[in-house]
Amino acid sequence: MSEVKLTPMMKQYMDIKASIPEDAVLMFRMGDFYEMFFKDAETTSKILDITLTKRGGVPMSGIPYHALENYLPRLLEADIKVAIAEQVEDPKEAQGIVRREVARIITPGTVMDSAVLSPKQNNFLISLSYSKGNYGLGCLDISTGDLRVTELASKDELETELHRLQAKECLISESLHNAWDKVENEQPFTSEKILWTPLQDWIFSYDSADELLKRHFSVASLDGFGCRDLNLAVCAAGALLYYAAENLRQSITHVKKLKTYQNKEYMVLDHISQRNLELVSPMPGSSKEGTLLNVLDETTTPMGSRLMREWILRPLYTKNAICERHDSVDALKDDPLTLAELREIIGVIRDLERITARLNVGSATPRDMVSLSMSVAIIPDVKYLLSNFDMPLLNRLHDQLSELPELVERINSTIQDEPPVKLTDGGIIREGFSDYLDDLRKGATEGKNWLAEIQMKEQERTGIRTLKIKYNKVFGYYIEISKANIANVPDDYIRKQTLVNAERYITPELKEIESKILGSEDKSKALEQEIFNELREFGLSFTGAIQDTAAALAAADVLTALAECARKYNYVRPHITEDETLHIMSGRHPVLDAQMIGDRFVPNDTLLDGGENRMMIITGPNMAGKSTYIRQTAMLVLMAQMGSFIPASSATIGLVDRVFTRVGAADDIARGQSTFMVEMVETANILNHATAKSLVILDEIGRGTSTFDGLSIAWAVAEYLHDSPESCARTQFATHYHELSELAMTKTGVQNYNVAVKEYGDQVIFLRQIVKGCADKSYGIYVAKLAGLPVSVIERANEVLENLENNSMQEAGRPAIAEHRTTNKRKKIIQIEEPEGPYQGSFF
Ligand code: ADP
Ligand code: MG
Repeated sequence: MSEVKLTPMMKQYMDIKASIPEDAVLMFRMGDFYEMFFKDAETTSKILDITLTKRGGVPMSGIPYHALENYLPRLLEADIKVAIAEQVEDPKEAQGIVRREVARIITPGTVMDSAVLSPKQNNFLISLSYSKGNYGLGCLDISTGDLRVTELASKDELETELHRLQAKECLISESLHNAWDKVENEQPFTSEKILWTPLQDWIFSYDSADELLKRHFSVASLDGFGCRDLNLAVCAAGALLYYAAENLRQSITHVKKLKTYQNKEYMVLDHISQRNLELVSPMPGSSKEGTLLNVLDETTTPMGSRLMREWILRPLYTKNAICERHDSVDALKDDPLTLAELREIIGVIRDLERITARLNVGSATPRDMVSLSMSVAIIPDVKYLLSNFDMPLLNRLHDQLSELPELVERINSTIQDEPPVKLTDGGIIREGFSDYLDDLRKGATEGKNWLAEIQMKEQERTGIRTLKIKYNKVFGYYIEISKANIANVPDDYIRKQTLVNAERYITPELKEIESKILGSEDKSKALEQEIFNELREFGLSFTGAIQDTAAALAAADVLTALAECARKYNYVRPHITEDETLHIMSGRHPVLDAQMIGDRFVPNDTLLDGGENRMMIITGPNMAGKSTYIRQTAMLVLMAQMGSFIPASSATIGLVDRVFTRVGAADDIARGQSTFMVEMVETANILNHATAKSLVILDEIGRGTSTFDGLSIAWAVAEYLHDSPESCARTQFATHYHELSELAMTKTGVQNYNVAVKEYGDQVIFLRQIVKGCADKSYGIYVAKLAGLPVSVIERANEVLENLENNSMQEAGRPAIAEHRTTNKRKKIIQIEEPEGPYQGSFF
């Protein structure tokens, strides 16, 4: 490059390029385009599918400036950071080349453009600090101003938290980043795509973070935010504010609070359970409708929808907090009229959180202001309706809502009811707001009348009926006369342009009127801007109040949505206790229940406790409903603890500290591990972390290896969970190993169940009912027939089965899996399970 002689413009480009982070693409504003050069041009032209050209040997590509919003999502999706350099002076007034400056840097975690953000999901930027095995975690949604921090004591806890947040970008110090590079598996695992952004170490230092945060919040100490002794969390929060302000090129005034939270307030829900239970996103290949979020999200505002997602991923672990939510849902459900009214008026409210954020960074549009006023104007009604209820949580939400009539009044008196989208379009300010503005506008309209008068006058004077006054950008107003009439043009006309069929002229009188018209138009637009900015300033002073109001509205929205679900799907209020009871009568799987309109979902009971019913072993043929049943238990517990009612006829739920699931043989391709390895890693995780307060859901453990191996592992795992005093969690174990039901004979806390089926001729009917006792037959061949295996194969299988049942087993010897196996004369069973990868074992 050194040989290329730089033009002044290129020099400016290079200087700006050098001032931004190396990993950012520079979009360089030139007239109506953003241009990219060199490597940036090559990268973006590929991702955006735009033409790559060369000028003077320099590769370049460009997009029209107004289309940025269309291109941005694709760049961010590809983890590309975009620095926008704007022209900061009027090209007409510039001496030499136009001055340009970086206006903002857009990254996946700091984007605020509505075209990129999903209204139903927070967009979290997170940051990590680390010291001696502990992590500080900060989390900022710049599009709403939500900032929270916590500290985590292990990588395991960290991974759980990362999965909950589903952040797009994570800040870490360069030294931590380098350390991860050196040690394999050191970096925390996230299944979602995340962009790691390393920053210089000093940004994470306690002193600079503490200083920056104190300055930002104008406080002398961070103790008021609950940050005493949370040094690592402070470091993480400091980095967030630094990076956000750096990218937005301004102070982020809408971040008004620093919230601290502790994980022990919540039920732990690791990413495996989050995924297996399809809480907020479906398993690969499953339908989008199949998530719990999809069933429960009856919210009517974007804030509510975002909070619903959060409540699902963060079930509570304190009885009081849970019961407060249940009380509110109960009260709302019991008053269907008020509930319907509340839902309707809350539904009018717009995304107050994001509008406020845009107001603070200066990108709020006139329409945002109208939305703001419309939303705030309805708050008194929400308050009034909430005051019907005498529940502590609803009372608190009521008190947290601000009415702000002065803001509504000011916006309404300033802005038109339906203003244009862009500020620069003019016509935003309401008539009567400013006499001067009205005069200017009158000037512009009157000017147009004058033009009509001149046109008439000139037509008479020249006798040319077709004489017209027209306007274009190059020479303003002019008189156009067709070629046929040129002979009658008066001497005082000044010719400006000749066309094929016509000539264009101006006159001194016309120019005088033009300057009046255009002058007042420019002036009125400038004045509108000024008035709008004043309104914006005024609105800014309400930031804190609007944010608190928005938070209360979000919670009210979620509670009313839960009440609506309870009503719609006939849910009951679960009774919460602090012991190990887990009794669910006629429980239903929330997603299948909601989907099976007409088709009846068969309800089932669950009976678990810390004593004789510590472990349920559930056997039964393939397709009988085992997996559905045990997932259902986990989901109902989770729903209860998030504050929801549940699909059951009654339920008592002893608080669960953590839900573990090991469901199906999900292949973890992202992690590059074999199915069986994954299965064992997950199982190890359960055995190492389960407590007496946990709920463990095991589905077909040991299926990924040979039958003997698998059965042995399943047996030992079940024994461990049952016997170990620390990890004797309430457990449901669905298995096709019928041998496992023999465990009940030696262990006091184990109960056998199976899913009932009925034989009818050569048909097998799935009753979907969980009943006591173990299954005596697996019906594998029947399922194979259902699946469409050729008749000859089915017939042959039946033959083989008969052979096996008649003799060969005894000679080959059955594994002595339990010493006391003498009395139980069971029928021989053959199990044909779905083939499960290379480890599919022999059957016997
Ligand atoms: P298994 O794990 O025993 O092989 P699944 O739990 O996968 O069986 O259930 C198979 C199918 O049966 C499910 O996809 C569902 O459609 C249906 N099903 C399961 N439980 C019920 C139920 N209680 N009522 C109605 N249909 C059910
Ligand atoms: Mg299953």
